[in-house]
Amino acid sequence: MTSDEAIERLRAGNQRFASGATEAPRRDARRRSEQAEGQTPFAVILGCADSRVPPEILFDQGIGDLFPVRVAGNVAVEDITLGSIEFGVAVLGCPLLMVLGHESCGAVKGAVEGVGGRYLGPLVAPIVPAVDAVRDTAEDIVAAAVDENVRRQVRALSEIFPDVTVVGARYELRTGQVELLTR
Ligand SMILES: [Zn+2]
Repeated sequence: MTSDEAIERLRAGNQRFASGATEAPRRDARRRSEQAEGQTPFAVILGCADSRVPPEILFDQGIGDLFPVRVAGNVAVEDITLGSIEFGVAVLGCPLLMVLGHESCGAVKGAVEGVGGRYLGPLVAPIVPAVDAVRDTAEDIVAAAVDENVRRQVRALSEIFPDVTVVGARYELRTGQVELLTR
């Protein structure tokens, strides 16, 4: 599969989900057996841990289709996260890596508000540069920082993984729609 075909498959699946025409494909016993022999995902999704943004559901995909790496704020700065992404891209051969931000992201809000804490502080720290970049000009700082954070992650990951197509997108909680922010 090419990266364009992967993007089209995600787009079509999200369209089904957003319009209420979900097919919930490839989730039966036969698919489980097939994939037990070896997984064949076509896209790595760096998404947020937010409970409202589960990639397989909002892209209407099945078992073995996606390789989600989920961490609050969809940031890839630590080696562990990058190692998971590298596994999906280099070992499993996914042609597409999507950074998926979302509306009303709590991690981005935390970065805007400067939350601290033993673990929460370091978690939001990588998002702060995106917040600082939009703070003086944005009407809605959180919304602008969500997009800016995605774009920054895309740029960074494109340099780290030059052999895969990296795109950025944003999910809207109410409409269920995913919009591409970069190509
Ligand atoms: Zn989030």
